[in-house]
Amino acid sequence: MVVRFAPSPTGPLHIGGVRTALYNYLLARQHGGRFILRIEDTDQTRYVPGAEAYIIEALSWCGIHFDEGPHLGGPNAPYRQSERKSLYAQYAHQLVEKGWAYYAFDTEEELEEMRRRFEAAGMVAPQYNAITRPYMKNSLTLPPAEVQERLRTQPYVIRFLIPRNREVRFYDEIRGWVSFHSRELDDKVLLKSDGMPTYHLANVVDDHLMGVTHVIRGEEWLPSTPLHVLLYEAFGWDMPKFAHLPLLLRPDGGGKLSKRDGDRLGFPVFPLTWRDPASGEVSLGYRERGFLPEAVVNYLALLGWHPSTDQEVFTMEELTPQFSLARVSKAGARFDYEKARWINQQHLRRRPLAELVPLVRPVWEQRNLPPVNDDTLSQLIAIARERATLVPEIVDAVRFYYEEPTFPLPESLSQKLNPTVLQQLPSLLEALERLPAWEASHIEEALKAWAKTAGVGLGKVLLTLRLLLTAEDAGPPLYAILALLGPDRTRQRLLRTFEHGLLH
Ligand code: GLU
Repeated sequence: MVVRFAPSPTGPLHIGGVRTALYNYLLARQHGGRFILRIEDTDQTRYVPGAEAYIIEALSWCGIHFDEGPHLGGPNAPYRQSERKSLYAQYAHQLVEKGWAYYAFDTEEELEEMRRRFEAAGMVAPQYNAITRPYMKNSLTLPPAEVQERLRTQPYVIRFLIPRNREVRFYDEIRGWVSFHSRELDDKVLLKSDGMPTYHLANVVDDHLMGVTHVIRGEEWLPSTPLHVLLYEAFGWDMPKFAHLPLLLRPDGGGKLSKRDGDRLGFPVFPLTWRDPASGEVSLGYRERGFLPEAVVNYLALLGWHPSTDQEVFTMEELTPQFSLARVSKAGARFDYEKARWINQQHLRRRPLAELVPLVRPVWEQRNLPPVNDDTLSQLIAIARERATLVPEIVDAVRFYYEEPTFPLPESLSQKLNPTVLQQLPSLLEALERLPAWEASHIEEALKAWAKTAGVGLGKVLLTLRLLLTAEDAGPPLYAILALLGPDRTRQRLLRTFEHGLLH
């Protein structure tokens, strides 16, 4: 099996593109096949600097790796179509010789004029096809001598000759048999007047030359496939298998998920933050939002593919043997950001603590919080990650560690303070002073014993202490909070109770 991901470097990679790459990658791994990255940059007008590097970085962050590509080299090099430019023209000319394509000399104005004329005659969106072709300037309508003369002196394109009255059928691994009538197709340009191939020619020629066995791509390419099928027939080449992945829909199901929807609904649609080189506009990425790459991969795997069990949390290793095109649905997949967050939470809980430290530290530093060493940070993460769905929420969850609680407490919280605990706070402080070591287990023991002697329920003791130490009524385990605050800060915060007249 040879599969490829063939993005055009026209901007940042949409997460839909990441999903396409992922499905290709999973199948290649499952079958011990090869996965090729090919950059389809024949349309120089849409080329965006930095886009190719972005695509490579984003996929490598996701753990989606290639066997061949412009960054790796390989037996099918070069992998940028702009560097393969000289290769394509001969194929277009081959098709002219075989009668499957022809030269066309029409200028922009003449094309425009044709559209106007046929529209006036009642045709909707006239195209270059069997009906209009006889009225145009091409090698099928002009005398051979004039064609030769024009080829020498004028710019020309090569157009594919769509056969008349043909049903073009192909099998799609996800959709089953798909059929188009050739009257729905137009004579697409294969080779432009500057000698550059169009997407269709370059894509098919490269898939053939690179030995691609499965073309797995987004549904938006389905309408191009009948032309590709005819191109294979015209060249006499074996056809790869085709699979068109369902569209990613907006959360409300009302259309294709766009960058604008993400902005409006407050979630990223790109894997990494992208800064547009022309406008300077910055679009936030999943990585920067605080997602783990394995969670992005897990979530994207489920956007269109349905596992045969009710398992929802997967690593790449688990996905690889289970993934199959047979379980990819035809229907568009609705984007569900809450689900994505939930999956991230599951992966945050599974990641080894030591690996979270380098992810949390930059957030810590960006917020200019007091320095902490790795050991403390890792303990903070340990008590906070249960409550976090995104990496920055880990830092939010340990606010007690870097922020003094503010008093007076709002009424809703102060009414939860237990008067007995407040009154007997000095004795509680004494009990803490006597700990053999300032560790969560000793703190727990001491507080339990103290609650018993004071005749107050442990829950009330803990809630009152939590309010006094953190000004919050919920958060990480209290014993751990005390342990991390250390004896001095704990004492000092509890003593503030006196200053604020909470103690009567
Ligand atoms: N260059 C096309 C894209 O940008 C490739 C489509 C295909 O995979 O054939 O998606």
